[in-house]
Amino acid sequence: MFDKILVANRGEIALRVIRACREMGIQSVAVHSTADADAMHVRMADESVCIGPPPSADSYLSMPAIISACEITGAQAIHPGYGFLSENANFVQAVEDHQLTFIGPSAEHIRVMGDKITAKDTMKKLGVPCVPGSEGGVPDLETARTVAKDIGYPVIIKATAGGGGRGMKLAKTADDLESAFRTARAEGKAAFGNDEVYIEKYLGKPRHIEVQVFGDGQGHAVHLGERDCSLQRRHQKVFEEAPGPAITPEMRAEIGKTCARAVGSINYIGAGTIEFLYEDGNFYFIEMNTRLQVEHPVTEAIFGVDLVREQIRVAAGLPLEFKQDELQINGHSIEVRLNAEKLPNFSPSPGRISQYHAPGGLGVRMDSALYDGYSIPPYYDSLIGKLIVHGRDRPEALARLSRALGELVVDGIDTTIPLFRELLNEEAVLKGDYDIHWLEKWLETNLG
Ligand code: ADP
Repeated sequence: MFDKILVANRGEIALRVIRACREMGIQSVAVHSTADADAMHVRMADESVCIGPPPSADSYLSMPAIISACEITGAQAIHPGYGFLSENANFVQAVEDHQLTFIGPSAEHIRVMGDKITAKDTMKKLGVPCVPGSEGGVPDLETARTVAKDIGYPVIIKATAGGGGRGMKLAKTADDLESAFRTARAEGKAAFGNDEVYIEKYLGKPRHIEVQVFGDGQGHAVHLGERDCSLQRRHQKVFEEAPGPAITPEMRAEIGKTCARAVGSINYIGAGTIEFLYEDGNFYFIEMNTRLQVEHPVTEAIFGVDLVREQIRVAAGLPLEFKQDELQINGHSIEVRLNAEKLPNFSPSPGRISQYHAPGGLGVRMDSALYDGYSIPPYYDSLIGKLIVHGRDRPEALARLSRALGELVVDGIDTTIPLFRELLNEEAVLKGDYDIHWLEKWLETNLG
């Protein structure tokens, strides 16, 4: 086992990893930009290293600075958290070239899953159901017309290098195709330096269902059920739950088995998430994330496992601590993402926290790096915390969420907390009856 791990991240996820290290008796090293000198992750780690000025490109994304920090402190492994360098295959390569361990999958698996066409092709070959669409890339408009006609409109044109909802265009009819095709290509080129696109059938009212998988790198893999993350704004998740209200135990077992078999057969190591759109009883693969997800705590709550601990163990060459048949679901868990944003426009709201009070009590987990007097810097994303609740069933989890939101105090800045208080009055949310477009429509009607 490692003696010392460097955490190449900030905010709540850096704390999350430091906490796992401490429970495992492993020393932790925080890295930080000059803007984060007073941040909680710096205070909580055993050691810290300043790695550069505020912009992420010069600090949290600086590979040489992070690798030097490992060498200075003697850390043997790097946990990347999510975002930043967590899905950067070149970084993994650089880490390994310096005889350090990357806590996550191989550079090759990150590369394969980072390109959407290759990812889809790989998953299809491994027996994972995919959205009907083109066989690989679509080189020109003429081919696009033929393919779209075969699939049937509406279709979605996607940049193979796309991410974060960019490089994706809807064509409702044949009249929209040319402009959607050209825009998706241009966006792919401008944002990701790659103009290759492919075409998929557009699903009208799907849910976003993602399956948590975990591999030991030696051909064994398990699944830890699904999360329903359908409540999204601009393709960003805001409310996540497990198990999915629309998924039966039989469906879970089947899709879970397919996913675990797929990642096991490629000797995948560590945590991964296979994302699907789910409509009318069918799962359609959209992408795989080769890292820990923001919403991993809902899975931890219902299975009673520590996913970061397992990531560290398998990276150190140890076996998984659980077998598939030992993973039993207990109750229901919900997470809400709290952002420093001002409603109704969700504009960033950095600033000083004059008062912070975290909720507590049975079944309540608050993952946040806030403290009284902390100043949120304007340079990074707006997530200030995640409130996660666990109950014996969905109604109990909802009641607990409502109670915990009532206790939570974050003063001095604007936050998205009032949004969740309102959502908990909605029949659709209480019933778990929503698709990926529900929240956008609700926001338009209620906040627009
Ligand atoms: P990104 O990598 O940019 O996040 P994804 O492929 O994960 O892109 O898709 C992001 C979101 O776009 C999905 O969660 C869903 O809301 C929507 N989407 C993607 N593909 C389709 C599709 N074929 N039909 C309908 N909506 C889609």
